[in-house]
Amino acid sequence: MSEIMNCPECNHEILTRMGTICPNCGYTVGYFNGDGKRKKYGKFFALTVFIPFISFVTILFAQMNKYTMIVGIAIFFYLAIKSCPLLFKDIFLTKFERIFFWLVWIFANSLLFALIFNILKKGFEG
Ligand SMILES: [Zn+2]
Repeated sequence: MSEIMNCPECNHEILTRMGTICPNCGYTVGYFNGDGKRKKYGKFFALTVFIPFISFVTILFAQMNKYTMIVGIAIFFYLAIKSCPLLFKDIFLTKFERIFFWLVWIFANSLLFALIFNILKKGFEG
């Protein structure tokens, strides 16, 4: 796990391991700014938080009529697939991380699906 990379600040060779401090400039390798994998992980973490929120707002606006709702549902499915942990399985360091993101993804999308279901059940009269 202790690979070498170049310090993003001064180009000195340092370990990619989290918490490594560059002896040359003092740059510290954080949780999200180690190697490329960690950067991808940071992006995925942001996606996991923001996508359900974006879907939620989209669905709220989409319930105006059935045509906007069709678009809203399409966006919901698109975003749910795009943020699925299955696409990011190579970035998880531990089994715990993998389980955690799967649970968050399932929970958020179940709530959104229930919201869509309730809107559809209510129908679009007038
Ligand atoms: Zn440095």
